[in-house]
Amino acid sequence: MNKPVKQHLIDPEICIRCYTCEMTCPIGAIEHDDNNVVVNADVCNFCMDCIPVCPTGSIDEWRVVDTPYTLEEQYGFEELPEQQDIEAAPVAGEEGEVDDSIAALLAEAHQGAGGKARAPVSASKPQINMYNLGKPAKMTVQGNYRLTDDPDHDVRHIILDPGALPFPVLEGQSIGIIPPGKDAEGKAHLPRLYSVSSPRDGERAGYHNISLTVKREQKGMASNYLCDLEKGASVNVTGPFGATFLMPNATDARLLLICTGTGSAPMRAFTMQRQRADATGGMTMFFGARTPESLPYFGPLKKVPKKYLRQHLVFSRIDEAKKEYVQDRIVAHEDEVAEMLGDERTHIYICGLRGMEEGVEKAMTSIAESMGLQWVNLRDSMREDGRYHVETY
Ligand code: NAP
Repeated sequence: MNKPVKQHLIDPEICIRCYTCEMTCPIGAIEHDDNNVVVNADVCNFCMDCIPVCPTGSIDEWRVVDTPYTLEEQYGFEELPEQQDIEAAPVAGEEGEVDDSIAALLAEAHQGAGGKARAPVSASKPQINMYNLGKPAKMTVQGNYRLTDDPDHDVRHIILDPGALPFPVLEGQSIGIIPPGKDAEGKAHLPRLYSVSSPRDGERAGYHNISLTVKREQKGMASNYLCDLEKGASVNVTGPFGATFLMPNATDARLLLICTGTGSAPMRAFTMQRQRADATGGMTMFFGARTPESLPYFGPLKKVPKKYLRQHLVFSRIDEAKKEYVQDRIVAHEDEVAEMLGDERTHIYICGLRGMEEGVEKAMTSIAESMGLQWVNLRDSMREDGRYHVETY
C-alpha cells in the first residue's frame, strides 16, 4: 500500500483563472490548460508562496491521498473530489490505534494551509464562496452613477441588490461578476473580481445592498458590461471572496489607508463602516489619482469629518504642478506616518496599482530607518499580527 501524502489542489468551481498562482510559484509546479489550473504533485514542495496571492481562496485546498491525482485527472475536474477515507496504518504493536502522522495530515488538509496573510484579530468572520459559476447569485441593478467628471476617465458607482438571497459581505471582500454570453469555445465567461465599496449592512444601512467602483477600460469586456448596466438589469454574481483584507472591529484601532484610483473601493467601505460604528481610532488616507476630476468619490470624501478620516489627496497630472504619487506624500508627512507605525493599534491597507508597492516600500523603509527600525521586520511582524494588508493588481 502507498503511504498517504498530502496533495495541493485548486478548486475549479471557485478559481477565476487569473493565473497569479502560476506566475508566483517559484518552482513551476502550477500550470493550466483551457479548462483548469492544476498543481503538479511531483513538483509542489508546499512553500505556500501561492496561497496569499490568490484573490479567491480557491488555491487553499488539500487532500490526503494514497495516490496523488495526476495532471490529466485535475484538468478533467469539474469540481473537487471529496476527501477519501484513508486507511490509517495501525501503529506497530498497538492494534486499533491510528497512525498520528496520518491523522495530522488529515486534520491539516481539512484546515487548509493558511498562508502568511492574516485577518485582524478583532475582524468579523467572513463568509466566502457561497455562490460560484455553476450556481451564481442573481442580483438586480439598483443604480449606476458616474463618479468622475474627466471625460476620458469613466468610473462608475454600481449598486446591486441581492433581494432575498443571503449574500453577506464584509468591507474589504470582493465579488465576482459573470459577463453574459459565451467565450470563443462556447463556454460561460469566467467571473471578474471587483472589490466591494459598501459597508457590511448595505450601501444604505439595513438594506444589505452592495456597491462596486468600476472603471471603464477601453477593451474591458466586464467593465464595459458593468458600466453600461441599466437600473433593473439582472447580474450573475459569485463569491463573496477574501478572508484577510478585512477591517478590525476594535473601534480604537487606527487605520493607515494607501490607495490609487479604483483601489479606493475598499477604503470607501471602511470609511462608511467606521462612521456608522462611530469608531474612535481614526484613519489616515493617502489617495492617489491623476486629477481631482478623475478621483472617485472626490465630493463625498470632502464631507467626511476629520475625526474619522484625515485625507491626503495626491495628484499626478495637474497642469503645471509637479507630478506627485502617494509614496511622495507619505515621505513628505514622515512624522505623521512614523507616529502611526510606532503604535501597536495601527493597521495598514494598500490597494490599487501593483506599481505603487515598490514606491511605498521605499517610503516605509526610510521612515522606519528614521525610527531606528528595519521596515522589513516591522512589516513582517505587522503581517503576522493581521495588521498589514496589500491587495494590488
Ligand atoms: P489610475 O487612474 O491609472 O492611477 C491612479 C494614480 O496612480 C494615478 O495618479 C497614477 O499616476 C498613479 N500611479 C501610477 N503608477 C504609480 C506608481 N508606480 N506608484 C504610485 N502611483 C502610481 O488608476 P486606476 O486605473 O483606477 O487603476 C487602479 C488599479 O487598482 C487597477 O490596476 C485596478 O485593477 C486596481 N484595483 C485593485 C483593487 C483591489 O486590489 N481589490 C480594487 C480596485 C482596483 P500616473 O499619472 O503616472 O498614471
